[in-house]
Amino acid sequence: MHGKNHLEFLKEEVESLKKQNLFNALPVLESEQQARVRLNGKDVITLSTNNYLGFANHPRLRKAAIEAIHKWGFGTGAVRQIAGTMKIHMDFEEQLARYKRTEAALVFTAGIAANRGTIQCLFDEGDVIISDELNHGSIIDGVRLTKAGRKIYPHKNTDELKKILSESNGFRRRLVVTDGVFSMDGDTAPLDQIAELCQQYDAILMVDDAHGDGVMGKDGRGTASHYKVDGLVDIDMGTLSKAFGCLGGYIAGVQELKDYLTNRARTFIFTTAHPPAVVAACTEAIRMVQDEPQHLQNLWKNTKHFKQGLIDLGFNTGNSETPITPVIVGESSLAQQLSAELFKEGIFVKPIVYPLVAKDKARVRTIVTAQHTKEDLDTALEAFGKVGARLKIISQQ
Ligand SMILES: *Cc1c(COP(=O)(O)O)cnc(C)c1O
Repeated sequence: MHGKNHLEFLKEEVESLKKQNLFNALPVLESEQQARVRLNGKDVITLSTNNYLGFANHPRLRKAAIEAIHKWGFGTGAVRQIAGTMKIHMDFEEQLARYKRTEAALVFTAGIAANRGTIQCLFDEGDVIISDELNHGSIIDGVRLTKAGRKIYPHKNTDELKKILSESNGFRRRLVVTDGVFSMDGDTAPLDQIAELCQQYDAILMVDDAHGDGVMGKDGRGTASHYKVDGLVDIDMGTLSKAFGCLGGYIAGVQELKDYLTNRARTFIFTTAHPPAVVAACTEAIRMVQDEPQHLQNLWKNTKHFKQGLIDLGFNTGNSETPITPVIVGESSLAQQLSAELFKEGIFVKPIVYPLVAKDKARVRTIVTAQHTKEDLDTALEAFGKVGARLKIISQQ
């Protein structure tokens, strides 16, 4: 039976996105996720994944997942509160808490679910949430789901943060929330200073370390560990979807935090448990980051080499301190051109333009992984040099 199309209006909406240059078609992989991929029908070197340690297709993770399927089957068939929690979920959370050096950890199906559910259930009218202006969209979503007051401080500006804290005594609970590593610039939050302010002003500190997990600190324990303030983060949020090559978000902290979220976080209660294969792969990833230090070493070796290469070519790489290195070119159209021309040369980097970043700060964002070889990176640098000069972003070599 054919009815009227009640969604006719979407044609116009999509057209309007296209006109504003805000429409993105999905790039499609025809290979595993790794340094060299087949994407949109072309063999390219990708510098666009969060697969920092190269775990996404690692044999140890594959094997763990397959064994879990044999032992536990594929699906879990229920939300965790009803009947979906298997022993493998509980064991993994214990392992994760030990790794993060916290009392407990709770896994959500994704990082976005962890942020939304946690912020939503812990804060309400009479509370205030104080947030860095460049925090991730999933934090912003979480804040929007509460009736708490909200204050935004300029990026990494601890003087402004201090001022807001000193002027916000009247609230019931105060939360300071920040990304550990910022995903568009690859810079880090000054967690040593932020943690000290939270101690001084009795504010709850939440760090979203989606891009710091598995990348920063000893054994990839994260940005708080890098700044030596692990013990001062009250709500330690991270993801298993990026460096660990799997899928999932988590909250680590005191046992009561886990107990409360288990019973109150809507994004935990109303969604089906992770398949055992995912949990087994996560378990193996946390093991691997500790017993095979070479991945983290390669990641940082590659980061140094590639970042220096871009700087030597004359590109503006901003204030990056991590494997995320932006190549800032200014106009949106120039970033799009740079990305398109690099793709023709066999290099895949996504343009990041307004409204994701300021209008005059359009860029392509590069992310190296432990899996890239020196040859991969040198090939990419050569292409950057060639295309950058052709588009007059850098002077002729
Ligand atoms: C990617 C990301 C998330 C979401 O994590 P998923 O597991 O992919 O849902 C949350 N916060 C930040 C800062 C991120 O970069």
